Amino acid sequence: MDNAPPYKIILIEDEPQIRRFVCMALKEAGHIAIEAETGVRGLMETSTRRPDLVIIDLGLPDRDGVEVIRDLRSWSNVPILILSARIQESEKVTALDAGADDYLTKPFGVPELLARVRALLRRSLRSEPEASPLVCFSGIEVNLAERRVTRDGTVIHLTTLEYRLLGLLIANAGRVLTHRTLLREVWGPNQTDHIHYLRVYMSNLRRKLERDPNTPQHLVTESGVGYRLVLS
Ligand code: CA
Repeated sequence: MDNAPPYKIILIEDEPQIRRFVCMALKEAGHIAIEAETGVRGLMETSTRRPDLVIIDLGLPDRDGVEVIRDLRSWSNVPILILSARIQESEKVTALDAGADDYLTKPFGVPELLARVRALLRRSLRSEPEASPLVCFSGIEVNLAERRVTRDGTVIHLTTLEYRLLGLLIANAGRVLTHRTLLREVWGPNQTDHIHYLRVYMSNLRRKLERDPNTPQHLVTESGVGYRLVLS
């Protein structure tokens, strides 16, 4: 992938108005937008056009959006952004667990759409070259090679599980991770129902890393879904 637009983006959405609105915004941002109005068509376009990003509506006429995501994930690592209605809260979580990278809840505005698109494209660009071993935010420096965390030069002690949780969030910076994904990756496949573990560890991490743990700027809660690390 090159470092600048145009990026090729496939939009799988059955509602013509939303399709028009999203495609216009993407084109104005300099991207190439390819439209698909069904899941089957979207999968076909994705396999033949090799896009840089796929945007998919969960409520499609022919196939369930989550099924389409699972299908896609069996052969592609392309970043996936979900469009969902507010009533599809649980479906949204299932879709993220199936391999989607982020979501937008309808109705959404152009600035938010383009910000999510930029973040996902940036992330997929970043994952290819050798990652810098240093991650910095608000005076915190995480040295991934040495597994060392400092604030303004002073070492902050993290437990093994706290570090593992932070490492996972850093590897997916900007992307929402569901409770289930975090529990599976940090605590193991049999622990995915223990959301309270996650709350306790996240509050410890916030206490150690956030300037104001009560209004976190970096370890952000995605209500009802999971958490996201915001680096900027
Ligand atoms: Ca729809």
